[in-house]
Amino acid sequence: MTWYADNKREFPWRKETPEPFVTLVSEVMLQQTQTSRVAEKLPLFLEKFPTIQRLATATNSEVIRAWQGMGYNSRALRLRDCARSIVDKYDGEIPSTKHELLELIGIGNYTASALLAFCFKQNVAVVDVNIRRVYSRIASKMTTTSMLLPVKEIDELAEKIFPRGESSMWHQAVMDIGSSFCTARKPKCKECPLGSVCLSSGEMVDVPPVKRSEPSRYGVPRRIWRGELSSCYVRHMVLYQFRKLQIICLVLLRLPMIPIGFIHLLFNWKKRGYVLFI
Ligand code: SF4
Repeated sequence: MTWYADNKREFPWRKETPEPFVTLVSEVMLQQTQTSRVAEKLPLFLEKFPTIQRLATATNSEVIRAWQGMGYNSRALRLRDCARSIVDKYDGEIPSTKHELLELIGIGNYTASALLAFCFKQNVAVVDVNIRRVYSRIASKMTTTSMLLPVKEIDELAEKIFPRGESSMWHQAVMDIGSSFCTARKPKCKECPLGSVCLSSGEMVDVPPVKRSEPSRYGVPRRIWRGELSSCYVRHMVLYQFRKLQIICLVLLRLPMIPIGFIHLLFNWKKRGYVLFI
């Protein structure tokens, strides 16, 4: 904590009392984007959508345009949908209980905990990828950089370890140590402020993490095949639009029309559009 007080990284979303809306947007951005890119894009996004009410009224194209350069556009749409739920259900006030937060679109355990700890100053354990790595290494003697403790053990440790009343500062300090010293490869144990209490300090052999092979079909990653049926059917033909590729193709389905339409309605009832049977 002493180290953090003097060395913390400065980011637009890090404030003494952060605004819950800003934290929500930044945490969604940080899910799959580097901090430096988020630091650059967050102020521009907030300029366009300064309040949760404004974000809730954004169209798909508006929100995707403001998200440009961040990747994974579906996050932006989920964030907008989350804003809509908060405006509808909570009059624009981000709820302050885990149970309510977890019911919102796109908010998982980490984001809910981060909001509770950083904005609402609650005694909640926060575990992200950096924190998990640091906790694994300080609590157990790791022999390689690719080793991590099981999730259950980390969760139990995370609940016990943080000082009550200091959850926000503690977790941000551990995150900073994770990104500045206790990196996934080549940790800087000699300079690390946790060196004297860490069981893995100077003990690890640097090895690359084991990569899990991506599920594929016909030798092509499965995510490339994902897409949507169009709303328009011509006899037994349907249009299939790939999400990742700018391709639409006509598919012949040897199924009776009524079941196809019914299946389509089941999967698309939330989307706007229409079904046309010919
Ligand atoms: S001493 Fe090394 S292994 Fe331990 S927390 Fe610091 S950087 Fe990580």
